[in-house]
Amino acid sequence: MKKTLFILVFLNVCASGGQIAVNQLGYYPGQEKTAVVDAPYTGSFLIVDHQSGATVFEGIAGEISPSPFSGKVRTRLDFTSLESPGIYHIITEQGMESPAFRIGDSILAPLASAALEAFFLQRSTPGHPDTVVLVHASAASPDRPEGTIIPSSGGWYDAGDYNKYIVNASYTTGLILAGYEKYPRYAQNRQLLDQVMYNLQWSLTMQDPADGGVYHKLTTPEFEAFIKPGECKKPRYVVQKSITATLDFAASMAQAARIYKNIEDYAATAMVMEQAAEAAFSWALEHPEALYNQLRMNEQFSPAIHTGAYGDFSAGDEFFWASCELYLTTGKEIYLKKAMEYAPERFSAPTWGNVSGLGIFALLTHNKATGLMKEQLVAFCDSVVSLAGGAPFASSYGNSARDFYWGCLSESCCGNAISLLYGFSQTGNRDYLIQAYYNMDYLLGRNPLGYCYVTGMGTKSPQNPHHRLAHTDDIPGPLPGFLVGGPNPAKQDGCVYPSDLPDECYLDVVESYASNEIAINWNASLLHLAVALQELSPLL
Ligand code: CA
Repeated sequence: MKKTLFILVFLNVCASGGQIAVNQLGYYPGQEKTAVVDAPYTGSFLIVDHQSGATVFEGIAGEISPSPFSGKVRTRLDFTSLESPGIYHIITEQGMESPAFRIGDSILAPLASAALEAFFLQRSTPGHPDTVVLVHASAASPDRPEGTIIPSSGGWYDAGDYNKYIVNASYTTGLILAGYEKYPRYAQNRQLLDQVMYNLQWSLTMQDPADGGVYHKLTTPEFEAFIKPGECKKPRYVVQKSITATLDFAASMAQAARIYKNIEDYAATAMVMEQAAEAAFSWALEHPEALYNQLRMNEQFSPAIHTGAYGDFSAGDEFFWASCELYLTTGKEIYLKKAMEYAPERFSAPTWGNVSGLGIFALLTHNKATGLMKEQLVAFCDSVVSLAGGAPFASSYGNSARDFYWGCLSESCCGNAISLLYGFSQTGNRDYLIQAYYNMDYLLGRNPLGYCYVTGMGTKSPQNPHHRLAHTDDIPGPLPGFLVGGPNPAKQDGCVYPSDLPDECYLDVVESYASNEIAINWNASLLHLAVALQELSPLL
């Protein structure tokens, strides 16, 4: 009788819907599998084959947890023991249902492919050939006075705009290649190397051959409007050489030289990169004051530059990352000495402005990290894992207002997960591994809004990212494979958001650059993490 009733209720409520949040790409068979009902719920639930409707699993609702930000209450549904490959959805007695999801062996491989392909879509040529780039007054040197024309072709557009920034580009290739070195057997790594080389070859053009210093960025004075690349007419400049750009360049070139020298087609370029890295490091040692301060630059030089500053007033972490990579590539003790001089006092997940984590990753991968560095990483991982207790969405990410800011899904959600996996490699602590997958679950749909925050993936994903290239291409919808910034209660874009809650303050409109832009560094996090979780999935 009860079963009959259940079926009747089920038939009745299928149409009414209701939200159950899942990872919309799915789960590996051995993974801890959780879905979250967006309500307090105490009944049973079914998992059914998405095609036939046949029941494959029956479970009872689990932990009920309040939101840290509101009176909302959520309920976890655990179905870890369902391991059979297939496509399913969840339904409850009361008619709520989930989007379809898979259980299978290669769940995140399509995501990794899309995240990698996004870098191809983000290429700046042919839209901006950059064969005529002006040396800005701030970047003038005896060999290249103001107005000198240099070519600086290639490279990725940085984000939703059309400019190219060395700090972020170097960080991006650095984070991707860190993943390559850690997971060298990943099937698509050769394609990954080709994509990254495209940007590295542009970066080489940003170094002044006369002294080794590196221009901070290649940019128009103001952001272009939302127009097609071919309609852009503003002049493009290389601006002031900066210590952060030069050290990030040195780090990424040293890292790339070490990796590409083993690839036959790229061995000659690798030698050039190693020399470029050492020349850049020497320039940095001689110019410790050369921090990029756009306001001050605009007081002295014209035209004024108002595009992304990537301003960063601490270059100690850049010295550390560059020293680590140069030491690992050249074996020279001078770089090891510098690395120890600038070693961080605690571990932090890498960001474009604090790159010390990339230095730690490199040392860990090459078994050169000190005992103290490993202890600091473990302390970080333990503190991250501790945040998951009682979490409505099971993940360590998303339980504090501090988790939501501009670019948070990359810097915090992905960055913490990537760091947890380095911790897992060191310790074998499975809590680190599980929580890394949980953060990806959050990113791909198991979150308050039920969004899969990667364009073109899952069943509910951003349609209108702040992305000039996608918005002007005359093709409906976004370019696929891009991670958006995510919920951001600071709302710097002045848009009207439907919610002020930290974890729901997201708006899928083109104007929302504070929550809905895309960026190469964010996709580097996504790509690294997707590759890592795919490669580690046999250990689940
Ligand atoms: Ca810094």
